[in-house]
Amino acid sequence: MKIVALKETFPGEKRVPLIPASVDKLVKSGAEIVVESGIGETCRFTDDDYKNAGASIESDRQALISSADMVLRLLKPPIEEIDLMKKGAYHVSYLDPFNEKELVEKFASAGVEAVSLEMIPRSTIAQKMDVLSSQANLGGYVAVILAAEKQDLIFPMMTTPSGTIKPARVFIIGVGVAGLQAIATAKRLGARVEAFDTRPVVEEQVKSLGAKFVKIDLGETGQTKDGYAKALTPEQIKLQQAGMAKACAMADVVITTAQLFGRPAPRIVTAEMVRQMRPGSVIVDMAIESGGNVEGAELNKTVDVGGVLIIGMGNLPGHVAIPASQMYSANLANFIGHFWDKESKTFNPKFEDEIMKGCLITHNGRIYSETYKSIVK
Ligand code: NAD
Repeated sequence: MKIVALKETFPGEKRVPLIPASVDKLVKSGAEIVVESGIGETCRFTDDDYKNAGASIESDRQALISSADMVLRLLKPPIEEIDLMKKGAYHVSYLDPFNEKELVEKFASAGVEAVSLEMIPRSTIAQKMDVLSSQANLGGYVAVILAAEKQDLIFPMMTTPSGTIKPARVFIIGVGVAGLQAIATAKRLGARVEAFDTRPVVEEQVKSLGAKFVKIDLGETGQTKDGYAKALTPEQIKLQQAGMAKACAMADVVITTAQLFGRPAPRIVTAEMVRQMRPGSVIVDMAIESGGNVEGAELNKTVDVGGVLIIGMGNLPGHVAIPASQMYSANLANFIGHFWDKESKTFNPKFEDEIMKGCLITHNGRIYSETYKSIVK
């Protein structure tokens, strides 16, 4: 089975889908791996590193795509590259399917089996292939580092002969994978950390990291069967904003990570809440790519609102491309390995498997994912 990994073409993207350590693993299980020449250069891997791990190198991208039984890449493909693929071949990458109707329909009409890695269920068995978690975790780390860099304060308390410096106050809104890592990173740097999430189960996790959970009574909230937050009513959002205003006003750094599966991110920090913050404070809006949690945040910009800086940097995991690629590549290899048939040495999934049912968007020339069909009409 020929598995092809392509160089990423999205401007500014430094992460690579497959690193030599994963090539080695896949080759040892019997796969033929061919990578596009130069695939690893943004992460300091040479073509020789890939050759030594057992891959062949090819520079003709079109030939690579059209000969593949499976194409691996990081981000969704340019639509014109789908027609180059063999019917029945697999395409495995991030797809952003709910925002890519045309692309999904193209995959179906081309008879390509398209896997959307962000749709892999958040189950224990699928944790090893969960790109949302592996990348969000690094994103949470980067958010804190960016905020610290823009601050003119320091995070830790320091008691010195010259006097005592107070610790910075950090408030994290949304405590999923990114939020937990942001709490852990801010704590490691010595900040005083508070956090809030609409899912009450999170309180224990926040406390176990040594942070304080901000309690706001919103009435019934909860989570879906997959662990995602349920959307709040407009009245609940207002209650939340009122409850959080004080924590925001007191904070030197606010990091927002609130997301809703398959929907735009909730708008929870209003312009009025930003106005109440001290000049010099920093907000990082980690949900900016799905619409943003903070009024006034702009994608890939740092906006100054009365001295409060709102950082709307996209692709935070891309700032630490080497560990992000290491994690993504391991997730890919684990995904392939999970469905690998050792005898025929092929990727041979059962289509009724819960993981495949979750992440396979197109199958046999049709749209297959029930979740996709329920959200995109
Ligand atoms: P996410 O990126 O979808 O959302 C981030 C956080 O924002 C969530 O904690 C969510 O509750 C919160 N949020 C939503 N609306 C909010 C609001 N108005 N105010 C404050 N917070 C708000 O979350 P995620 O990191 O992808 O995690 C989603 C779920 O999946 C969690 O339950 C997580 O524990 C679970 N998970 C499970 C596994 C596993 O078992 N394998 C792996 C990873 C994540």
